[in-house]
Formats: sequence, structure tokens, C-alpha cells
Amino acid sequence: MEKQEAIVLYPSPPIGHLISMVELGKLILSQNPSLSIHIILAPPPYKPETTAAYISSVSSSFPSLTFHRLPTVEPPSSTKQCKHHETLTLEILSLSNPNIHRTLLTISKTFNLCAMIIDFFCTAVLDVTAGFTFPVYYFWTSGAACLASFFHLPTIHETTAGTNLKDLRSLLTIPGVPPIRGSDFPKPVLDREDDIYDAFISMCKQLSKSPGIIINTFETLENRAIKAITEELCFRNIYPVGPLITTGRNGDKNVENTDSCLDWLDSQPEQSVVFLCFGSLGLFEEEQLKEIAIGLEKSEQRFLWVVRNPPGLQNQTEPDLESLLPEGFINRTGHRGMVVKSWAPQVPVLNHKAIGGFVTHAGWNSILESVCAGVPMVAWPLYAEQRFNRVVIVDEIKIAIPMIESETGFVSSMEVEKRVREIMEDGPVRERTKAMKNAAELALTETGSSRTALTALLQSWSPKRSS
Ligand code: UDP
Repeated sequence: MEKQEAIVLYPSPPIGHLISMVELGKLILSQNPSLSIHIILAPPPYKPETTAAYISSVSSSFPSLTFHRLPTVEPPSSTKQCKHHETLTLEILSLSNPNIHRTLLTISKTFNLCAMIIDFFCTAVLDVTAGFTFPVYYFWTSGAACLASFFHLPTIHETTAGTNLKDLRSLLTIPGVPPIRGSDFPKPVLDREDDIYDAFISMCKQLSKSPGIIINTFETLENRAIKAITEELCFRNIYPVGPLITTGRNGDKNVENTDSCLDWLDSQPEQSVVFLCFGSLGLFEEEQLKEIAIGLEKSEQRFLWVVRNPPGLQNQTEPDLESLLPEGFINRTGHRGMVVKSWAPQVPVLNHKAIGGFVTHAGWNSILESVCAGVPMVAWPLYAEQRFNRVVIVDEIKIAIPMIESETGFVSSMEVEKRVREIMEDGPVRERTKAMKNAAELALTETGSSRTALTALLQSWSPKRSS
């Protein structure tokens, strides 16, 4: 009997990467229900409980997705003290190679593996997959402009010999990317002395050798960057299939928050509330939290704000709002604001008619979720490629305004007040975001650009399937 055809997905463990890869699995399945989809999960380096809640919720709603959890691995203790959190993720993924090899052998006993799709961070697995015949595609969980810049990084590395990206004085010219400062790149590539720097450059070099890269974006949103990748950077096999976003109900850790903040929004006027939320890992020092509170209070806007404990208090479960926020803040602003502890159901919140603006850390999923809800953004980047994303969504796509920090990274209450007021006004940024929401819906229709790209992707596997 012929074996059933299967696709293996290998996401990077952080929840922001995992969520969109799972959505990709659901999308492929919706287009070709005869495929078996296997998702291999390396042990999460951070917030394992969030991942566990999310997976158990997805597994029960989508039993046709099969999850394979790899056993935990023990990275050297020196890795845990590394200054970049990406180092630990890369180490865990690399140490997981023998386990993933075993898992691939097990799956291939029962199924005919026709392709594997890996996250950029999972590049080390290419050492394992070299022994198999299926093609390995990338799934790029950020935007096309960011992909273009990563394609171009090895060239920047060579042409700026000896100078660190963070020290480059002139703006960089990269195909498909607005003029950008070297210091707006992710931290791991800013300094040649960092251990992780070389690893990133060699991962970037692998991208162009891949048979195909699937991107979580859509043509109208990043037209120039997509064109630059195919025409100027000469990589033709890209598949912009987005926006792939979750409904947001999976893995919500705090059901009480989920209900109470949506109930509260029900009682607010249309487009009157600014939402502040900073991704799965965004944290602020206490001084910055207090400053945000002062800015919000002075802005006189309605707000819904997700507050977490500062980095030094991560071992405590719940943030103590009375001590973290300015004295009397909750009482004084209670009639027009709500503070949610730790986690909010971001997608349902953004899609609530009361929301009029979003102060975000500019993680790519958050950006797409905001676009799909038609909500303009204030971009306040904190980690990963978010500074890069800020330039793209402010200067290129024009669906956000920037939050400007001082040289030390601190944002004043005056800046918070100003930006929050500005984003709640009607204007070109809101108009453009609404236009992008419509374009996103169009891209996902039967004849839309993203659906066409998905069809082309599935067809690209067909010759392998028939051989
Ligand atoms: N998220 C959420 N509630 C929160 C914080 C985050 O639902 O309080 C979700 C958000 O909707 C998004 C994901 O977590 O789907 C964060 O992904 P993103 O790429 O924006 O940022 P990352 O966490 O990867 O930095």
C-alpha cells in the first residue's frame, strides 16, 4: 500500500515563531486535506508553560496536526548566561539534531515525506536533513524587507570589513528596504566580536541555497521588498502566503483577563481605546512602567494596558500593580483605563470596535494582527528584529508612527503622551492601515496573491511526490 504523503514543519520554539508556523500547517491542510502534517517541537528555552497551553489547545481543536515533542537537552551553563537570548535558542536547536533525526526516521517509516519546512533559527537541522531526499524550505516568520536584508547581510559583512554594523555612520542601502541605520538590525549581528555573529552570517548564507522560502507577508503590504528579492537579489522561489495570524483564543493563559478586558471594551465608545501590549517577551524596568503610566494619564485617552513584572521580578507570578505603578494611578484612571496583568487576548482585543490605536513592540505577528484589524500602530521596539520593523512600518508602509527613545533606550512620559494622542487621531496612517486591512482580505481570497502563492508552493512539491 502506498504511504500517505506528509509535510514536516520545524518551528523555532519561541511562541511568536511557533504560532505562525502552526497557522501555516493549518493553511496547507485546508488546501490539501490529504496531506499529513507533522510539527516537530524542540524544547522551549523560555516560557514553556505558554507553549504547553498553546499546544494543548491547538491539539484539541486540530487533531489532524500531529505534534512530536523532542526531549529536553541540557545546554552548557555558559550559554545560559549569554547576552543574547538567541544564543540559547540556537544551542538547544543544535543539540536537538540527534533527536530530530530519530523523529524523521520514525515518521518516514509510515509516511512519504514530500517536504520539510523549517524556521530560519532551525538552520542547523540541515546537517541532519542532508541524509534525506525531501526538499527543505524555509518559513520566514518576519517580513519580506527583513528577509531582503538578511539575504544582503553577507555582502554587508564583506563590504564593511572590520566595522561593526552598530558603528556604521552612513545609512545602509539594501534592495527593497528603506534607508536604514546599521544599529536598527537585530542585536546578534551588530558586533563582529559576539560569538553569535558568525553563526548568523552563515545562517544567512544558507538562505539563498534553499529551494524555496515561504514568507508571512502579502504582496500589497511589501510589494517593493518582494520584487527586490526576486529581481535584484535574484531569488525567485519565494512564496508570500500571508497574513497568517491566529484567532488568538489558543493558549490564553488567563481566562479571567480574557473575559474581563473584552467585557470592559464592550462598554467603551467606538475607536476610543488605545491598546498597549509588548509581545510574548516584552518587559520594562519599574521606572519605565511608571513613566508610561504618567504619559497615559496625561494623554487623557482611554487605554487598555498589559503590564508585566520588570525583569528583576520574573520569579513572581503576578505583578503588584499598586507598587509598580504611580501611587493612585489605578484609582485616578479607572473610569477610562484598564490594566491587565501579564497577558491579554491580543487578536480579539485588536478586533474589538472600541480599539482605535495600538502601542506595540513591533513584533511581526503583532504588526500583521494590527493590519488585519485595521488598527494603526505606535512602534516601540524592544528586542529581536523589531527596530528594523519600526523603520519598515513607519517609513515604507506608513501604517505606524514611531515611539522615540533616548540614547539609553528610555522613553519619556511626554513622548508617550504625544504619541498616544497622535495615533488616536484620524489621519493618513489610519487610512493607510485600513487600506492594508482590505488588501490583506483580498490577498487571501481564492484568486488573491497569497492563495496563488500557496498553490504554486504546493505544486512545487508535486514532481517530488510523483517520483
Ligand atoms: N500575544 C498575546 N497576548 C499578549 C502578548 C502577546 O496574545 O499579551 C500574542 C500576540 O497576539 C502575537 C504573539 O503573542 O500573536 C507575539 O508575537 P510577535 O511576533 O508580535 O512578538 P514576539 O512575542 O515573537 O516578540
